Amino acid sequence: MHLVTGGCGFIGSHLTEALLKNGARVRVLDNLSVGRRENLDSVASHPGLEILEGDVADSETCKGAMQGVDVVYHLAARADIVPSIDDPEVYFSSNVTGTYNILQAARAEPAFKKIVYAASSSRYGIPDQVPTPETAPALPQYPYALTKDLGEQTVRHWSQVYDMPATVLRFFNVYGPRVRTSGTYGAVFGVFLAQKLANKPLTIVGDGHQRRDFTHVSDIVRAIITATDLQTRGEAFNVGTGRPVSVNRIVELIDPDDTIFIPKRPGEPDVTCADTTKFHAATGWEATMSIEDGVKDLIANIDYWREAPVWTPDSIADATKNWFKYLKEKTE
Ligand code: NAD
Repeated sequence: MHLVTGGCGFIGSHLTEALLKNGARVRVLDNLSVGRRENLDSVASHPGLEILEGDVADSETCKGAMQGVDVVYHLAARADIVPSIDDPEVYFSSNVTGTYNILQAARAEPAFKKIVYAASSSRYGIPDQVPTPETAPALPQYPYALTKDLGEQTVRHWSQVYDMPATVLRFFNVYGPRVRTSGTYGAVFGVFLAQKLANKPLTIVGDGHQRRDFTHVSDIVRAIITATDLQTRGEAFNVGTGRPVSVNRIVELIDPDDTIFIPKRPGEPDVTCADTTKFHAATGWEATMSIEDGVKDLIANIDYWREAPVWTPDSIADATKNWFKYLKEKTE
């Protein structure tokens, strides 16, 4: 039995579908704070799937969910960046205490063989080196990045001290169908697609020249499954395309006709770009989805964002008020 924490979320639901397709039995643990059961509709009646609603911040829940589990894919986390400045407590309990609870439960489970942890490129902050290798220092700029890095360190520490096979994958800007549509201001694709559906202008942050290493979820899922067999003790690997794309290019692909510029946010890098030499050498993995095909795939699934909040410059200014307040002086 495999356990996917956060399996009702964006990446977790794609991973769950792929594991079931490969013949695995999968238990999903998700508190549905952000994820939705409907994300697993395509496999809802699959006999190999079990969905548990529960919180990783609760140690008893983690122990229960771990029974009979050999491989743990630990994806459960609060993952929207901007709200972490307003509510660090829930980020800490989900992302740090939750990771600790999962590790402790795994350690006590006789069937346990391996944990793969969904880490984040946000740990690199505003890096000096681009493409950024795994050896770049951790420079988290906001609570989400810090909590993901603490989660990663905890996985590595447990792996080394308690001899638990573990691999840490640092994802770069994942996108694809079912990308989060929570009520909070977040991932650029969810924001743009809801705006396009509502015939509202796409809100471009800064001048739109900033580039991100947008990595399609199908490449990420392949990386996670590939990493399952790596014999590592908490080793970290970057997972990205290494080919960053500007926000303006994304706008061009989605809807270049109606746009509006909003202020650049402090604490965010001009470019994210993974150096994936290490993961490629260890597994042969490389990203294969082009941004053009990836965006086509999103647009083909655009109805998913019909109920999503439609952000305007005013509502974004309100949602990011504290971000500007706390991050400004230190980073500019
Ligand atoms: P997501 O929000 O869609 O999925 C996270 C899931 O975890 C949700 O279903 C949510 O309900 C669940 N969850 C949150 N707190 C929980 C808790 N306390 N207990 C149980 N379940 C809880 O986000 P995603 O984009 O699919 O991210 C998955 C993982 O990948 C996260 O760990 C995230 O930090 C990491 N990651 C994502 C990206 C990205 O670009 N999407 C980049 C780097 C790392």
